[in-house]
Amino acid sequence: MSNWHKLTQNDKLGRITKALTENVNFSKDVSLGYPASKLDGKVFYDDASFLKDAPVLMTYVANPNNIGCHTIGISEKAFKGTQEIEREVLEILAVDIFNATTNEYDGYIATGGTEANIEALWVYRNHFMNTYQAKLSEICILASEDTHYSIAKGANLLMIDWLRVEVHFENRTIDETKLEILLQEVISKGKKYFIVVANMGTTMFGSVDNPDIYTNLLEKYDQRFKLHIDAAYGGFVYPFLTPKNHLDFTNKLVSSITIDAHKMLQAPYGTGIFICRKNLIENVLTREAGYVAGMDVTLCGSRSGANAVAIWMILKTYGKNGWYEKVKTLEMRTNWLCTRLDELNISYFREPFMNIVTIKSAFISKDIASKFDLVPQSHNSDNKWYKVVLMEHVEIDSLNELITSLEIRQTNFI
Ligand SMILES: *Cc1c(COP(=O)(O)O)cnc(C)c1O
Repeated sequence: MSNWHKLTQNDKLGRITKALTENVNFSKDVSLGYPASKLDGKVFYDDASFLKDAPVLMTYVANPNNIGCHTIGISEKAFKGTQEIEREVLEILAVDIFNATTNEYDGYIATGGTEANIEALWVYRNHFMNTYQAKLSEICILASEDTHYSIAKGANLLMIDWLRVEVHFENRTIDETKLEILLQEVISKGKKYFIVVANMGTTMFGSVDNPDIYTNLLEKYDQRFKLHIDAAYGGFVYPFLTPKNHLDFTNKLVSSITIDAHKMLQAPYGTGIFICRKNLIENVLTREAGYVAGMDVTLCGSRSGANAVAIWMILKTYGKNGWYEKVKTLEMRTNWLCTRLDELNISYFREPFMNIVTIKSAFISKDIASKFDLVPQSHNSDNKWYKVVLMEHVEIDSLNELITSLEIRQTNFI
């Protein structure tokens, strides 16, 4: 059911004001038990006149703590207004964008994609240990070499191996033959439980993995696995542009998804989202969290309710169709850049339906990379790629300057 429509400024203000009145008000209510208050009034004036028209700033100053997870069990009653806003955000992401069924998912707004990915690894590691008495040495992560380094962090923290799956150099797709050999080898050495991370947009290339390559092989070898989708980069772009894909909850093998609102959605930092199917997140319940009402199944502790409000405001400013139009503009600019690069015979990688163009370093000089702030794949001398990310502020005018510089460089070469 799509319930993602745009709202007027007044309606948004009304909804957030109502949410704040449902929270404890540290300025007026008697509230003695929490180590929390509104922001320091000497520094952050809560009577500044502009605040009354600025729902996010208003929430920021009120400083609600959305600690815990609010899709499951009971929650801290002091902040139920902003917890409800968080549930509305999760509903749009889970149901409208990633095709989950209402009430059949859990999730929360984490500090970022790193936390959301580590939460996923943590949930599955514990799932395998709790359900099958798996040993740490029997569990491993499967993810491509282009996978974000948060997976390496998670593997290190959780003490499980990460098997780096090679990709083809030109098209960045998973090398299926090598994956199969790798699987045979690790299965023979005792790995039995697999946590698969498939990318919806890798950080360097925007490349999108085909999760069926992993799941078909794991089924062929009769292995237990869980599939997580890292859509930190592509989550607000790819689902809008691609007709149909296997990287959302319509694929019954997908158990969870990470989406960063602080990348393509341009929300403030601290807005990585974790969503998973029901009956999984309990695997990371911390029973010792006695003072938090309800269940603490999150990795971070305290977190600001203002982040939920910020994402909610963006989603409700655009609505589903408005967001589609915005992403279409980014796609159009990406197409424009690719056409120009083709004309200059410059080779690059571009995933269809993504807004990233990764150019081979042979075509880029150090000066051009530095002038246009192009990000290299590696800061070492063996760097082979530079990327251009087609964000909101990256307009055709600036792309045209890049093209002109590339053209001049080519002419000078000849
Ligand atoms: C940025 C990114 C992350 C990590 O996100 P942070 O919000 O920086 O923690 C994870 N995965 C991918 C694919 C990313 O691009």
